[in-house]
Amino acid sequence: MAILNIRIIGDPVLRTVADPVTEFGPELEKLVADMTETMEDVEGAGLAAPQVGISQRVFTYRIRGVEGHIINPVLENSEDFQPDEVEGCLSIPGLGFPVRRHRSTRVTGVDMHGNPVVLEGEGMLARVFQHETDHLDGILFTDRLEGEDRKAALRAIRNANYDSITEQTTSKRAKTVGSSFGAGSAFGTGQ
Ligand code: ZN
Repeated sequence: MAILNIRIIGDPVLRTVADPVTEFGPELEKLVADMTETMEDVEGAGLAAPQVGISQRVFTYRIRGVEGHIINPVLENSEDFQPDEVEGCLSIPGLGFPVRRHRSTRVTGVDMHGNPVVLEGEGMLARVFQHETDHLDGILFTDRLEGEDRKAALRAIRNANYDSITEQTTSKRAKTVGSSFGAGSAFGTGQ
């Protein structure tokens, strides 16, 4: 397994709609293993394949001891919403804003062997499923912000020197993210 480099906002792969996975085999299994290891290394709540430069519909998640992955996820969201919680993103280090998300989410897809998977979550788990699936559609959490929060987020992104952050190693960046999203915040760390 290997720790992968996490792509930072500005990288076109984060703005590309990812392709469905059609080939199952050792390469996909290695990707899932590497993504899981990378997510654990940075203590992220989730990681989508485009965040490691792979434009395929795969994400991993890790919330309160519940860990896994899903391939080609399709979401069914509840119509109602959960209370806004601050989200971060491993691809936008240091930024955190409250985001509106559906209360519960049902995700259908397959695992790395092609076997059917159904995931159901509420609250934080539903939030992660929605955040990671957005990544597969080229959407970042800042796109979901409105009003003053949106302005503040765009300003922060403009002012941040993300080019230099990209030069850093993943573990160094993890410390940056970790300090930005302390234990008191909803997420603990980014996704
Ligand atoms: Zn993210």
